[in-house]
Amino acid sequence: MMKYIQNIQMLNEQGELVSTSITIENKVIANIGGEQPDGAEVIDGNGCFVSPGFVDLHVHLREPGFEHKETIETGTKSAAKGGFTTICAMPNTKPVPDSIENLNLIMGLIEESAVVRVLPYGSLTVNEAGEKRTNIAELKEHGAVAFSDDGIGIQLSSTMYEQMQDAAKIDAVVVAHCEDNSLIYDGVMHEGIRNKELGLPGIPSICESVQIARDVLLAEAAGARYHVCHVSSKESVRAVRDAKAAGIRVTAEVCPHHLLLEEMDIPSDDANWKMNPPLRGKSDLDSLHQALLDGTIDCIATDHAPHTEEEKCCGMVGAPFGIVGFETAFPLLYTNFVITKKWTLKQLVDWMSVKPAEIFDLPYGKIEVGGSADLTIIDLNKEQTIEIEKFESKGRNTPFNGWKAKGWPIMTICGGNVVYEEVINEK
Ligand SMILES: [Zn+2]
Repeated sequence: MMKYIQNIQMLNEQGELVSTSITIENKVIANIGGEQPDGAEVIDGNGCFVSPGFVDLHVHLREPGFEHKETIETGTKSAAKGGFTTICAMPNTKPVPDSIENLNLIMGLIEESAVVRVLPYGSLTVNEAGEKRTNIAELKEHGAVAFSDDGIGIQLSSTMYEQMQDAAKIDAVVVAHCEDNSLIYDGVMHEGIRNKELGLPGIPSICESVQIARDVLLAEAAGARYHVCHVSSKESVRAVRDAKAAGIRVTAEVCPHHLLLEEMDIPSDDANWKMNPPLRGKSDLDSLHQALLDGTIDCIATDHAPHTEEEKCCGMVGAPFGIVGFETAFPLLYTNFVITKKWTLKQLVDWMSVKPAEIFDLPYGKIEVGGSADLTIIDLNKEQTIEIEKFESKGRNTPFNGWKAKGWPIMTICGGNVVYEEVINEK
């Protein structure tokens, strides 16, 4: 079956929007800018923008084990609605993908119910317990996209070092949630100004930055490729910048919320503002922006982390860390940073599609003839209020409820299949 998308705007090499058409045949892009082929199903883009489908290196789908928070079905529907076509699922599920058996089980569930492409991580340690190392070569052979114990930092340097040595042998990427357990101090938000005003325990920035500093040195010694999750502080940015300058093979991601919010924005002891790492100070936020623009930080990842309302209802202490991210990422970033001319549209697309695919050597994230037909059609002029009641995700935990934003995905195509289409109300 062929599809012909007509009347759409695509970015050219110079970052300008140009009108074009795209022909899809057998899951791949067969032609760009060509005539309508006979017998093709025609999709009218109505002059909207077409982006390569977004690629998210950092998401939590909660299944298996925590289906009350999210399932692979609801999580991937949420991803599709947000314009994501390839997502990498973190291994803090039950069971953890720490063996071939568990990885196969998870891949079977993905096969059954995912509506977009889900690439599972393998864990770095058995049961993410930080002790016994997993066999990452074996896990990679069976389909693990990369390796991480996301949710917790690897405390023992030797464990990290030895897994990096194994990863280097097979050219796998070690991905790290950096958190030194001895520096958490039972904190629930950033150790700064606002936590004192609210009387809540703080997590200092060094909790993250010292482990990044350790890891880049381990990566250098092991010759490994190392990717830092959700960089949140200026000291962490400096550690990554220095490592890159030294030629260490490090890449890094930042989350939309760390670019949009800082500690003083937290209105009250509300767990919808609780995430790990926490929202830090204004100088940290500024440093993250600078790092994206100068290439120290390579890409944007949502860290989509759904939880139930019951879990998030009763203040920061006791609530789990994390917020949902798929359905708000693009409109929030587009509205706050592209419309305001801080970034170009091309930069945003690079950070959400091109770069994340490159970091994991994935054949996605670009619109090119012969490439997978992963496309997100976005109405850049459409303005709408974020309403948690309308989320596809089971998670309603976000600080962005009620925010107005422009630039909403109206159709998402993954491997040539329409996986999300906006329901147009009859007028
Ligand atoms: Zn994490």
